[in-house]
Amino acid sequence: MLAGSVHPHPMSSILACEEDEIAMKGEKEPLPELPWTGGCQCGQVRYTLKEMPLTLYACHCTECQKQSSSAFGLSCRVRKAAVEVTGETASWQRPAQSGGTLLAIFCPRCGSRLFHERAGYSGDPDGATMNIKGGSLDIARFLEPVGHIWVKSKNAGTVIPKEAIIHEGQPEDYSDMVAEWQRRHGT
Ligand SMILES: [Zn+2]
Ligand SMILES: [Zn+2]
Repeated sequence: MLAGSVHPHPMSSILACEEDEIAMKGEKEPLPELPWTGGCQCGQVRYTLKEMPLTLYACHCTECQKQSSSAFGLSCRVRKAAVEVTGETASWQRPAQSGGTLLAIFCPRCGSRLFHERAGYSGDPDGATMNIKGGSLDIARFLEPVGHIWVKSKNAGTVIPKEAIIHEGQPEDYSDMVAEWQRRHGT
């Protein structure tokens, strides 16, 4: 803001200025306090996440490109018990690259993909976790994946940050990305 300029100073513009300064300095904003909310594009399905995610990564596999109709999928791994959903959902399933079956849950009205659950996955035999599709979170702009998987099929225009964990294909397990998320955001 120019010195001496007339400005009404509503709280929203003061906050916006502070955010701009943080962005210019390249500092990372802290994640918002829990609970986090999210939902589909039309608003028919809404959900609340009551616990910190276990990790957050981007998947550049061709399935995620098709699923999102975009460059990559954003997977926010959470405990299922930490999520409360309202509204009507529908599902579709396919064999998962990590083994077992992937159950894709979406809004039947607007088609937004919301959650991916897996059955028969060796990394989570009890099926206690699932992935929230990151873009459906209301706080999506704060999210930075700690890892990128299936980088060998990534969109040519997507640039991966130097500090990120990179897996060229399917990772053996997700423990490195869980540990890195914990290091950055653990309490
Ligand atoms: Zn919807
Ligand atoms: Zn994928």
